[in-house]
Amino acid sequence: MKTLRPLMLAGSLLATATLPALAADDFSACLAGLRKDAAASGVSGATYERFTGGLEPDMSVVESLDYQPEFRTPIWDYLAALVDDERIADGRAMLVQWADTLKAVEARFGVDAATVVAVWGVESNYGRNFGKRPLVTSLATLSCFGRRQNYFRGEFFTTLKILQEGHVAPEHLNGSWAGAFGHTQFMPSTFMRVAVDFDGDGRRDLVDSVPDALASTANYLARAGWRSGEPWGYEVRLPQGFDANLAGRKKRRPLAEWVAMGVTRIGDQPMAPHDGPAAVLLPAGAEGPAFLVFRNFDAIYSYNAAESYALAIAHLSDRLRGGGEFITPWPTDDAGISRAERRELQTLLLTRGHDIGEVDGMIGSRTREAIKVEQTGLGFEANGRAGRKILDALRRQPPPATAPDANPAR
Ligand code: CA
Repeated sequence: MKTLRPLMLAGSLLATATLPALAADDFSACLAGLRKDAAASGVSGATYERFTGGLEPDMSVVESLDYQPEFRTPIWDYLAALVDDERIADGRAMLVQWADTLKAVEARFGVDAATVVAVWGVESNYGRNFGKRPLVTSLATLSCFGRRQNYFRGEFFTTLKILQEGHVAPEHLNGSWAGAFGHTQFMPSTFMRVAVDFDGDGRRDLVDSVPDALASTANYLARAGWRSGEPWGYEVRLPQGFDANLAGRKKRRPLAEWVAMGVTRIGDQPMAPHDGPAAVLLPAGAEGPAFLVFRNFDAIYSYNAAESYALAIAHLSDRLRGGGEFITPWPTDDAGISRAERRELQTLLLTRGHDIGEVDGMIGSRTREAIKVEQTGLGFEANGRAGRKILDALRRQPPPATAPDANPAR
């Protein structure tokens, strides 16, 4: 299981770390001290020397380890960006482009194409976002500084073994600060356990081989207990007076018990003929959408141990199959916005003279500060959230005449 991966929208941190004067010396001594343990893990001396010789630490990853986001992303914001029109259209294009591979993957692992592609879309935006940090540098640093050094040493040695075995090109082995990499954003230990060679070149390459990546995702889900042909779950309507304490992913009951309580499926379709355990999820409390989830939801959940994340993948898979949005609205009067709308909002902020940097659809601290200024001017609550209300308000208001020209990128 992957750990320590921040949710994609939990807040960006780009603080440039300053290297303490002694860190580089400490780092060299630490790496020299780890050589024996690396050898015991199967890393040859030559490999160790080749990839750690002259290595410098990246102390910013230690800051990332301790970072606590000051801004909690509401589930409707999280889903609005992860399951937006762009990602649905891109995913449908991938279903067509990789149809033969996905068919072979389903035949071997029993996981359907839409689910595999949905994981791909959420994990790396179909291979567009791998993370930019050299894995060896990040994991070597986390092996020598900060909390959880023992955990990261295991990942560090495993990374060196991946390189030693020649699975991934060293210059392409970049990823998140914590070491998740490639199309599937597996941690190195997950790679070793689960990655498969599906294109038959003898290498398990989750960076430069889409077939290897798609098959490895399916293998992960299969090992996590995926059941072919069963739904992950679906949106339901709860009976009047439903006791919200019964909800929770681990509070499983036979489907028949939920039906007896008056839980019904939303839409025209009947409850699945399914006798396994089911749980009710209320991701935004009793006032928001409710879901009945089955074994396959847990398989998706195991990929990153966050319910909002699993729901994003599950929902995206439904949208890729042609399904619609959730019927029950989220309990907010200020809905979430897509990545295209985030970029539009950032462009509107630029035209108003806010120095928010590049228009990238990522809502970081500078964008939030600019939103607060505009919210204050409009008499809104100044919470810095990039939502429907502020976007609509700025769309209606022409920028002040004194605002500098801005480049509406993209
Ligand atoms: Ca391969």
